[in-house]
Amino acid sequence: MGTVSDIKLIDEKGLRIDGRSPEELRPIKIETDVLNRADGSALIEWGGNKIIAAVYGPREAYPKHNQDINKAVVKARYNMEAYSVDERKRPGPDRRSMEISKVISEALESAIMVEQFPRAQIDIFIEVMQADAGTRIAGLTAAAVAVASAGIPMRDLVTGCTAGKVDGHIVLDLCKEEDNFGQADLPIAVLPKSGKVVLMQMDGDMSVEEFDQATGMVMNAIKRINQIQRDALKNKFETSTGEVGE
Ligand code: ADP
Repeated sequence: MGTVSDIKLIDEKGLRIDGRSPEELRPIKIETDVLNRADGSALIEWGGNKIIAAVYGPREAYPKHNQDINKAVVKARYNMEAYSVDERKRPGPDRRSMEISKVISEALESAIMVEQFPRAQIDIFIEVMQADAGTRIAGLTAAAVAVASAGIPMRDLVTGCTAGKVDGHIVLDLCKEEDNFGQADLPIAVLPKSGKVVLMQMDGDMSVEEFDQATGMVMNAIKRINQIQRDALKNKFETSTGEVGE
């Protein structure tokens, strides 16, 4: 008792270490057009995460051997700033950021109508300024809004959320302590209109029943998160219409 491994993450009332109920999301806020030079951008604040996504393109892919004659190449780069975590993170790419960049690129490619832009490249930069667990999902959710805000044709947005297992309970949207001391972490992203899964990773162990419960929770949450993404885009377009009319 009392050691780090004994940290109690769920109390007698079933509430979590940050006071949330099992299916409660952390607060999420998304704002578009936060950078003037990018074709599209978005800032997401999701719990303690603060992440910017910036989109450039479609523009001619360079060097030329990177071009695909049938479609645009989608290149996302996920980067965690040295100051984004408690202990300074070693700057620059590492295996984790390369893996996350790859899965985010693939997820976004499923949503973007890449076949409309042969030989082009779409660059997406995801900068994690403050990290608090769930950054790949928060970064991807912001990146989808930034791509839409750049006016790039998409089949749908990409919306994600994480569920996990903590003290034997399945809970939604893990915070840092739950991510560190929990038993499993399951980030999922989908195209919300079709429900097609475009990212799914798992760290830890769950039974089949727990997995079903976790995916059910994520799918419910995705509807709410998708609405926040759409509201952010609606705000952008309503604001621009307002300016034109003035
Ligand atoms: P995700 O952020 O998508 O949940 P991980 O599960 O790999 O990805 O990381 C969980 C959390 O652990 C991160 O959000 C961050 O708060 C912290 N973290 C990840 N990498 C580092 C690092 N190199 N140094 C300090 N903290 C880190």
